Amino acid sequence: MDTVEKHPHRFDPSSWPFADPDNTVAYTTSRALRDGEPILFVSHDQDGDWQFLCGDVTEADECLLICLGCAYERDRTIGELADLPRGWQAWRDSVDAPWERCPPEDEGAVD
Ligand SMILES: [Zn+2]
Repeated sequence: MDTVEKHPHRFDPSSWPFADPDNTVAYTTSRALRDGEPILFVSHDQDGDWQFLCGDVTEADECLLICLGCAYERDRTIGELADLPRGWQAWRDSVDAPWERCPPEDEGAVD
């Protein structure tokens, strides 16, 4: 699990829902970060990295490195996935829809 350089976030640290530190590496797309597209797909990678994507990722999407805290700052509802185990993914149809969780496809890869 990688981290980025520590930097301040706007939320109250006592409200932080994740077990990982807020400067844990996370990936998102340029559409989510710059264009305000909703986060509809989340992946907690086996190596501990988090991905917060718009759902239908296209090749035109630029993958951007942010941090878990910055992602949470953008969308507090991802805090509902704080206990998502490594290797799991979650998605939703819209920002108002509940998260659907999906276990790893390759069970043998789970440690
Ligand atoms: Zn940050």
